[in-house]
Amino acid sequence: MGQTIGVLATRQVAVGVVEDNALTGPIRVYPEGVEDPDALRTMTGDEIAELIGQQVLISANGRQIDSVGVGFPGVIRSGVVEESPNLQQIKGFPFAAALCGVLGRGGLHASVLILNDADAIAAGVAATRGHLEKLIRIWYLGDGVGFGRYPQMEGVWEGGHMVVSLDPKEHFCGCGGVGHLEGIMGHRAMRLRFLDMEPEEVFAAAHEGDARCVTFVKRWHRALAAASASSIHLDGPGKFFIMGPNAHYVDLGLVAQYIHEMVKMTPLQGSLFEIISSSHDLAIVGAAVNARRASA
Ligand SMILES: [Zn+2]
Repeated sequence: MGQTIGVLATRQVAVGVVEDNALTGPIRVYPEGVEDPDALRTMTGDEIAELIGQQVLISANGRQIDSVGVGFPGVIRSGVVEESPNLQQIKGFPFAAALCGVLGRGGLHASVLILNDADAIAAGVAATRGHLEKLIRIWYLGDGVGFGRYPQMEGVWEGGHMVVSLDPKEHFCGCGGVGHLEGIMGHRAMRLRFLDMEPEEVFAAAHEGDARCVTFVKRWHRALAAASASSIHLDGPGKFFIMGPNAHYVDLGLVAQYIHEMVKMTPLQGSLFEIISSSHDLAIVGAAVNARRASA
């Protein structure tokens, strides 16, 4: 089995060489030492491809690399970024072709897969936990809500925007859609809903019995259960991993109770939820694993 390179390009660009479903050395991060949310935001598609390409070439260091996988936020199909809410300037950009060009000019001829960052994380979880033969789903709870699935499938899979409420007043989703999971669970959406409280204060107040916050925290869990139940009804039962900065607010007992209420058909029961910590490593390994699978 040859070596592959995995890349996570979100706030920073993180690159690692992967062999046998594991990193072979340290991760290369650009820009180093700063968590600058605007590192990619002000760049054009070509500039981002050039930056990633150069980092990949440095990491390859002349070695034979078969494939390169890049986890990137947004809807990506056939190597084209169809939508990227935080990087609007690259909507429609043929990312894979541009990156292939940069790598080729540097003497590296490898197949390139661009995939949604949450799908990369899901593959990383599957690879590092020995679940490569199973269906794995992840919920990433941050500013938005990411949904990842392994094995990666054709399609859009914007699970964070599943409709979980028919209430027209549920309009806080970053995409502008009404009734979406992210509009209830996303950090940005919670700040818009509770203009006078930070999300951590909302959860703390719920813990103290504040009625308004208790109601919301139940709805927050019910939304996660509803979206998971919809996924189970379409895709079958299985393991869901919950991660990201807001994962620690999740009460797994409450999720299990709501799932039990929402999923009643016997063959669909038995899904498990687990909270895990996320890292660059997971996404990098996962991007590489999916790139190798795609090129095989
Ligand atoms: Zn939405």
